[in-house]
Amino acid sequence: MEENKLKGKVALVTGASSGIGQGIAIAMGHAGAKVVVNFHSDEDGARDTQKLIEDAGGEAITARADVSKAEDAQKLIDTAVEHFGRLDILVNNAGIQKDQEFLKMTLEEWQKVIDTNLTGHFLCAQAAAREFVKREVKPEEKTSAGNIIFISSVHDIIPWAGRVNYTAAKGGLQMMMKSLAQELAKYKVRVNAISPGAIKTDINRKEWETEEGRKKMLSQIPYGRIGEPEDIAKVAVWLATDEADYITGSTLYVDGGMTLYPSFSE
Ligand code: NAD
Repeated sequence: MEENKLKGKVALVTGASSGIGQGIAIAMGHAGAKVVVNFHSDEDGARDTQKLIEDAGGEAITARADVSKAEDAQKLIDTAVEHFGRLDILVNNAGIQKDQEFLKMTLEEWQKVIDTNLTGHFLCAQAAAREFVKREVKPEEKTSAGNIIFISSVHDIIPWAGRVNYTAAKGGLQMMMKSLAQELAKYKVRVNAISPGAIKTDINRKEWETEEGRKKMLSQIPYGRIGEPEDIAKVAVWLATDEADYITGSTLYVDGGMTLYPSFSE
């Protein structure tokens, strides 16, 4: 990872005690950003993230918050500003799955996923955007007033039976991202999404831990390997730099070709 690509920037990564969020927080820290490592309940995981950043000479703090609660989301942004003096990058990563057949899905199973994966992203994006718009950046400057990156999923376009709560949230994120990008462009706030394919984390451990599960996953990935958090982290770092200054309202599918309908390849 190129050092100092994000020097002087402050990043907040939600759900950064494990998986993709942890990978992004570490990569942003290694790229020179000061990082607020949000966690929900796994404080040890968040401390590990912090340590990995600090061991490489970076700066990070941990902050407990439930992103689905408005006051917690606001507190996260306030923590970044109070501690590091500013916020430049929000990575809305926190997410959960509560899989259930549609005919059996309870309102609670539906609501919990929508609250975390959709409303939580709205709340953090709103609180961050209110901070970003205080900055004045002229249209001709090749830098932004702030960056919002949503971690969505290939399931914002690929339907997924037994997970209607998850796909509805991710599909919703897609339009939230585009509408926000449109609305906030005049403030020079960039809004984009990264949609990962199958990445080895706790969320899908049950699938990749068994030989059979791995085979099934690989059958859906033309590129022939299951992704790792670093695959997403590198893209997130780049998207947050001014190298990507002209990108707003886009979704980058980082999925080894999962969205290429591999079952049609023969
Ligand atoms: P993960 O379970 O390791 O990470 C999810 C993180 O979100 C955890 O750290 C968890 O504590 C946190 N979280 C959950 N509810 C929260 C809340 N209310 N407030 C704050 N934090 C909360 O799994 P992951 O795979 O790293 O998932 C990260 C994101 O990537 C999710 O949005 C997920 O939908 C998305 N994603 C993952 C994959 C994959 O294959 N792993 C694929 C596509 C999209």
